[in-house]
Amino acid sequence: MNETQIIIGVSSCLLGEVVRYDGGNSRNEWVLGLRENGFTLLPVCAELELGMPVPREKICLVGDAGNPKLIGEDTGRDWTDEMIAFAHKRLGRADMSRMSGFILKDKSPSCGIDNVMRFSSLGEVPAQDGTGLFARILLQLYPNLPVLDSRLIDDEREREEFVKGVLQYSHG
Ligand code: SF4
Repeated sequence: MNETQIIIGVSSCLLGEVVRYDGGNSRNEWVLGLRENGFTLLPVCAELELGMPVPREKICLVGDAGNPKLIGEDTGRDWTDEMIAFAHKRLGRADMSRMSGFILKDKSPSCGIDNVMRFSSLGEVPAQDGTGLFARILLQLYPNLPVLDSRLIDDEREREEFVKGVLQYSHG
């Protein structure tokens, strides 16, 4: 990476990397095309880098809206503390502090910004109001960083606003 690069963090699955819990990916052509427009994309898969295998048990948010836990749906394994520690360490790295934006996979209990299923307790009907744990730490550590939730990628205006924000941030 050189000093003039404009770096955007990206949930790895959006780049076509086979990292999802179900052994698939969430490849998005617009995100990939940002490279041709001169941006450097920095992939991060919080779940994989935390040591979870592919495929893996589905995890979900469980508990209070402000402070839910990250729990394995079948086993009940609690990943909360490990994910929070991982996110602080990963997002504190020098390459991450040079980011000018982040594109996050929607609905993910790790990456989703605001529309993630949250169960008050396992087995209950979920609300659609959670923030993924990795995304939560990202928003805490970089409150002014432009972020784009992948559900908004099809909206041209949202895309333009995001790119404009990234360019402004990089010159800030
Ligand atoms: S949503 Fe995030 S944690 Fe889940 S597969 Fe994609 S990059 Fe990994």
